[in-house]
Amino acid sequence: MASLYIDGQWTDGSGGTSDVINPFDGSVVETVGQADAGDVDRAVAAARAAFDTGPWRGTTAAERGELLRRVADLLVRDKEHIAHTETLDTGKTLAESRIDVDDVTAVFRYYADLAGSDAGRVVDVGQAHVLSRVVHEPVGVCALITPWNYPLLQLSWKVAPALAAGNTCVIKPSEVTPLTSVLLVRLCAEAGAPAGVVNIVLGDGRSVGAPLTEHRCVDMVSFTGGLATGQAIIRASAAGVKRLAVELGGKNPNIVFADTDLDLAADWALTAVFLHAGQVCSAGARLIVEESMHDELVAEIGRRAELIRLGSGLAEGTESGPLVSAAHRDKIESFVADALADGARLVAGGRRPDEPELADGFFYRPTVLADTHRDMRVIREETFGPILTVEKFTTEAEAVALGNDTSYGLAGAVWTSDMARAHRVAGALRHGTVWINDFHPYVPGAEWGGMKRSGNGRELGPTGLAEYQEHKHIWHNTAPAPARWFTGEARS
Ligand code: NAP
Repeated sequence: MASLYIDGQWTDGSGGTSDVINPFDGSVVETVGQADAGDVDRAVAAARAAFDTGPWRGTTAAERGELLRRVADLLVRDKEHIAHTETLDTGKTLAESRIDVDDVTAVFRYYADLAGSDAGRVVDVGQAHVLSRVVHEPVGVCALITPWNYPLLQLSWKVAPALAAGNTCVIKPSEVTPLTSVLLVRLCAEAGAPAGVVNIVLGDGRSVGAPLTEHRCVDMVSFTGGLATGQAIIRASAAGVKRLAVELGGKNPNIVFADTDLDLAADWALTAVFLHAGQVCSAGARLIVEESMHDELVAEIGRRAELIRLGSGLAEGTESGPLVSAAHRDKIESFVADALADGARLVAGGRRPDEPELADGFFYRPTVLADTHRDMRVIREETFGPILTVEKFTTEAEAVALGNDTSYGLAGAVWTSDMARAHRVAGALRHGTVWINDFHPYVPGAEWGGMKRSGNGRELGPTGLAEYQEHKHIWHNTAPAPARWFTGEARS
């Protein structure tokens, strides 16, 4: 199946082929074509032409909203197929993939509505003869670069607002998980996106991502991925002074005060970190527990972690799938080995599963490490895997200090039955999202993004649309008169 879409045509690409691997058993799900530098050039040229001279620029916001609504309807139609593909590609459970497709559908509907209601504004300048308007215009050609953990979801947070605002785009998904991004582009085409408006090129970061982000005809780069890649993209964008939206990793604190019910705290500590085998940017990987409940809570979490059922994401009853690749599992194993060497105490996991039927997949048991502290790599760096570390505190100030003691600032949570304390702590945490007595929920209408090294833009909400807009001021003087600043007369 041709898997690159350039200027309204499906093509195999000129960069050879690549196997997409099922992380459950290492089998090949599909072989897809790869782009070369020439394909990237053609895709950007198509997006440029569609933006500069195509019919797309003449569409109204309401028409673009209608397009997004049609995509949402097609997502509903194809939900099972897309969810199944996402599970084969990423290893996550089918239940998680179905939620992803529902969330993606909601994002398209949200931006469909917002497109129609986002009219710019009139500024009252206090002069009856002056009309001052701020109009919202698209930025231009957007390079949309996405990671492998939520391939479809992360793409929707970019492509829906980009199209709503009237941009054209070239998509580059992770080479590891490209399949549902290709499906989404098929739906955009079926919904009536004109040729050149949505393009997709497949390939790795070095040979496709870098030339795309550095391309002089790209106006904006919207990137979600790791810190090091984000920094490289920021550097590469400097020459062209491109618009950037950069969503990076997290090292997210989950703070539990001792007035929290133990069952609730244990249940949510697991849910916070082990969904999608911990491969979630906002995973609650750092459990920070009040000392008086620490030992009991850690023992209970360890007991429950050992019971988590690993398996195929497609199988009924599987609670967690594999890691995305063998290389990623190697990285997780090195984090655990380093932590143990530095004095951490292994409470659960710390090994590959014993079941022979999981031996070909990239599985790693959910792991709980106690007695961890700030000098350990496992506390300082994002592991992006099934590792929960536990630290303890005695005062509220200490809890906040620990929660903020990270170079990241994506998300965090606080658990307590004292609501005044809950809001004090939520206010003091330097993270883009803070949950009180909950973990993970997000909605299309609320901004998502990070502080510090977690990024510099916002997705979702009205700000997620504004990222893809120029806000231009048009001043119209309806009764011009000479300024007489320069009189035109010779000085005496
Ligand atoms: P990654 O290695 O940084 O890759 C992200 C994307 O960038 C991939 O498509 C990758 O291509 C591409 N890329 C690599 N080098 C590039 C370059 N020089 N120029 C342009 N593109 C390049 O990240 P990942 O491992 O896929 O994803 C995991 C990271 O994403 C974690 O840190 C996670 O926290 C973060 N994340 C953040 C959010 C958020 O909302 N803040 C959400 C999800 C994930 P290839 O992989 O094909 O080489």
